[in-house]
This record gives sequence, C-alpha cells and structure tokens, in this order.
Amino acid sequence: MEKREQVYEGKAKIVYRTDDPERYILYFKDDATAFNGLKKGTISGKGELNNRISAHFFALLEEHGIPTHFEKLLSPREMLVKKVTILPIEVVVRNIAAGSLAKRLGLAEGTPMRRPVLEFYLKSDELGDPMINEYHIYALSLASEDELKTLADYALKINSILSAYLAERKLELVDFKLEFGRTAGGAIILADEISPDTCRFWDAETKEKLDKDRFRRDLGGVEEAYQEIWRRLS
Ligand code: UDP
Repeated sequence: MEKREQVYEGKAKIVYRTDDPERYILYFKDDATAFNGLKKGTISGKGELNNRISAHFFALLEEHGIPTHFEKLLSPREMLVKKVTILPIEVVVRNIAAGSLAKRLGLAEGTPMRRPVLEFYLKSDELGDPMINEYHIYALSLASEDELKTLADYALKINSILSAYLAERKLELVDFKLEFGRTAGGAIILADEISPDTCRFWDAETKEKLDKDRFRRDLGGVEEAYQEIWRRLS
C-alpha cells in the first residue's frame, strides 16, 4: 500500500490517497480542539491512542454485523480505510444527560435517559454544527429516507453493542457522535473515529470522566484518561 497525496486535513486527522483508488489512509494527530475550534491544544500521545481505540471498536462492531470503513492498522498513527463520501450529518446518541443536552434542557449532568436519545447535527464548522431533524435532512437532500433509517438503526445498534461491551469494563457510555459515509456502490457504512474525542466515557463506579471533557473543562489528567480507556479495552 503506497501513501499518496493529502486529500483533506481536519482538526484531529489527515486523510491521504493511496495507490488503491478505493482506499484512503487516516493519520491521527495529537491536536485537540473544543468549542467549535475556539479552544486549541495538543494531547500528547492522543493520535496513537485514538487510532488504536477506534480500530478496536470498529473491529468489534464488524463482528456484530455493522459495516465500517476500517480495513487494518498500518502504523501507530495510521489506519487503512475504505474510501467513502462522508454524509454531512453528525449522529449523536445519548444515554445519560451531559454536555449540550444537559445545558439545553436544563438537566443535571448525570441524569439517565429512560431510552436512548438520537440527535442529528449538520456538519458545518462555519455554523457550529447546528442541530437538525429529519425534515431538514429530507428538505436539504442530506440523506434519503432509506439512508436515514439505516443511520438510525446502525446508531442505536452500535449504542447497544458498545454500551454492553464497555459495561463489562466498568465504563459507562454517556454519549457519542458517529459519522457515516457512502461507498462508491451506494452503501452506508460507519466512518470517522470512535474514541475519547468523540464519546463521553465515565468510570461506572466513581463517575470519573475519561474522555475529552478533561481537556474541554481543564480538569487535568487528559493523557492519563485516554490511556486508561485503552487499558480497559486491551
Ligand atoms: N461530539 C463530537 N463532535 C462534535 C460535537 C460533539 O464528537 O463536534 C461528541 C461529544 O464528544 C459527545 C457527544 O458528541 O460525546 C455529544 O456532544 P454534545 O452535543 O454534548 O456537545 P459538547 O458538549 O461536546 O460540545
């Protein structure tokens, strides 16, 4: 597999073309941003940990029948993935109130949801990822009805798989964000990453935050939290 030119650089990852037109390489950076890019920093070792953690979750989900873009790990910071066109929709699943949900609805952080909450956000840095619903998605042709049904089914199934897996490791999956892509053949598959950058993980007993909230809220022990997640998975 030959690495070719950069296709795209995001806040936490760089995408490279390869000699295979249907495969890309994802490179995971240590750069961290929060509050729509207003807060910037680096989390030393994050790129390697998020690469490994994401690969681990993608492999687990594939075993449970969820199609993902993950092919294999190539190096400590790189994975080989299927080329997709990312849908401009961020899919968020929540089991416990935290972050923007707690704020918007005036809920105490930690309030359990009686059933998982599914939310959609428009992927737009300029607009700060505004929340949208299915009507916006159809009106703006962001996804077809079949595609949106697939997103919702996969997102809720992923929530069940990951929540159960993490519970065995004494972790609560509070909430997380997913991104999906369309393959050349038109199939919807899970893409992007699943890591402490994109999920809230709490220790099941102490409720200690083991995710990017340590960076967002200047809680300290950021690197250690990411390492602890990998330790519990491996
Ligand atoms: N999230 C993300 N990228 C975003 C926004 C949110 O990965 O651009 C994740 C976030 O880490 C959390 C979940 O989605 O696990 C819900 O985030 P929330 O809406 O509470 O916003 P936040 O408090 O992260 O700004």
